[in-house]
Amino acid sequence: MLKRWSIADAANTYGIKEWGADYFDLSPSGEVVVRTTSETGQTETSLLDIIRGAEARGLGMPLLLRIENLLDQQITRLNESFSQAMKDSGYTGSYQGVFPIKVNQQAQIIEEITRFGSRFNHGLEAGSKGELMIALSMIQSTKSLIVCNGYKDPEFIDLGLQTTRMGYKVFFVIETPTELPIILERSNALGIEPLIGVRIKLSSRGSGHWQDSGGDNSIFGLTTSQVVDVMDLLKKHDMLHCLQLLHYHLGSQIPNIRDIRTAVRETARYYADMVREGAPMGYLDLGGGLAVDYDGSKTNFVHSKNYSLDEYTADVVEVLMSVLDERSVAHPTVITESGRATVSYCSILLFNILDVTQYTPGRFPETEPDDAPESIRNMYEVRRTLSVRNLQECYNDAIYYREEIREEFEYGKITLRQRALADNLFMDIIHQIADLLKKVKRPPRALEELQEGLYDIYYGNFSVFQSLPDVWAIDQIFPVMPIHRLNEQPRRKAILADITCDSDGKIDTFGAVHDIQKSILLHEPRDDEEYYLGVFLVGAYQETLGDLHNLLGDPHVVSVRINSDGGFEFVREIEGDSIADVLSYVEYQPKDLVENFRRKLEQAVRDGRLSVAQRRTLLQAYETGMRGYTYYER
Ligand SMILES: *Cc1c(COP(=O)(O)O)cnc(C)c1O
Repeated sequence: MLKRWSIADAANTYGIKEWGADYFDLSPSGEVVVRTTSETGQTETSLLDIIRGAEARGLGMPLLLRIENLLDQQITRLNESFSQAMKDSGYTGSYQGVFPIKVNQQAQIIEEITRFGSRFNHGLEAGSKGELMIALSMIQSTKSLIVCNGYKDPEFIDLGLQTTRMGYKVFFVIETPTELPIILERSNALGIEPLIGVRIKLSSRGSGHWQDSGGDNSIFGLTTSQVVDVMDLLKKHDMLHCLQLLHYHLGSQIPNIRDIRTAVRETARYYADMVREGAPMGYLDLGGGLAVDYDGSKTNFVHSKNYSLDEYTADVVEVLMSVLDERSVAHPTVITESGRATVSYCSILLFNILDVTQYTPGRFPETEPDDAPESIRNMYEVRRTLSVRNLQECYNDAIYYREEIREEFEYGKITLRQRALADNLFMDIIHQIADLLKKVKRPPRALEELQEGLYDIYYGNFSVFQSLPDVWAIDQIFPVMPIHRLNEQPRRKAILADITCDSDGKIDTFGAVHDIQKSILLHEPRDDEEYYLGVFLVGAYQETLGDLHNLLGDPHVVSVRINSDGGFEFVREIEGDSIADVLSYVEYQPKDLVENFRRKLEQAVRDGRLSVAQRRTLLQAYETGMRGYTYYER
């Protein structure tokens, strides 16, 4: 008997329980819900309801949805996990996170992080002058830290020093040996003592995409001998007491907990010896690297991680204590610069499907037409003889005759209609082979790939380049799935194309719990209803890395706060770019464009090609288009 499709099957198909981190799940009615926690318990809110709410407010697809609550909950989880781990093991220091602004610089995100983070004194990490400007203005509590990495010119240093005078904790982390003399000079000139940290190059390095940003070969950080030079120079100026922080950054998305432990152990040794040298220290900054399990596999695969948050915090604390206690060094305040893990969950890209190219054969007569040339007759013969026993042979023959037919078409021996018939016939044979393959125990390798290649193309109303740049640039895998109709079995194997008409504008690799797949199962779209998909965990790095390929601009962004009764409010709506906006980014003056077009219309009226009424309608259409969304509007 055939088992009926259930919600559990849908959950398995898309792995939502594995990557959803308990924030995303399915409702009995087949919709993706976001689960939020408040004092009164947990509630579930359907993403489809939020889409309906946005559309009712005039914000169509695509839509970048931010759920404030998830950002709040992630910051809480991170802070509580560290304090629990410290409590459990008798660690006497504390934890104080900072959010690295580069991971998502959007004003709204930073505003929310500083607001939700203030009860934990969660601070900010700035890697450039622009980011320092953000940090100085947005930080809420003088107890929160501002950690400055990256290149720092005298202007940057002056700003930081002045803020220190106001009572804020601004750390200058020395990344290159040339920085310290400038800091000392500015400090002397202003009469303000700096808070100094050093960034080290570890010899241990993590595996994963960013393995080169940590390790001996990393472009940032001081070598052991440079660390010694820094301490000597500080001693010479009688300012060793300013050295209070040690920092490293192993790289982002470190999938293997072993690499994290190794790095913490090595750093703890540095720390202990710097204390022995007489530096007061007090802060140990472990950088970023805390990974996100994008495919839900819980492995050390690059898109995953083989540890939970609680394992991460427990391991950090345990390794630190084992090194420091042996040397009787006081436990420092632990800082992490976790960016990806903090903001990934809160953003979801939602879009509708505009069109589908189905990979199913078109029509052709059951038997060959009387006037069919030899090659087409041969193709019919292949189809008649096809069976489980001769799959490979029939496949080779079909390919051979298709080539022959294409050549004949090229030389004008067969007509366009005959070629279309042959193409349909060929597709039918390939589909029959794919079906028969399922009955074969050990299918030939070449044919296995054939099965993979038979998919539909679903055209989504979004731009990979604008909204998911890492998919294009570094083959990042994000969870993708329909957000409704999950109580129906999806039967179409598909890949996703965006609307940039660039051959790279596609998603054709999907995470699955046990492997990577070259297609995704989707539902047959209906004529009378939109089909919506979501790309999840896109809160980190995607927004500002995105670009204006094909002049598709920023999508609409809405920020939603979910209340304890499961209802929600739109706390912010940011309308996406209009055509005029994106044209002005590439230095056009929309006004001038309208004026040029108006002149053309006027000329056409003079030439008698357009009536005055037609001119008016066209000009209005042009002007309306200028104000419109850059994406497909229904
Ligand atoms: C990018 C970066 C981070 C953020 O890393 P995540 O893996 O996203 O947490 C932290 N610190 C530094 C110095 C960085 O360059």
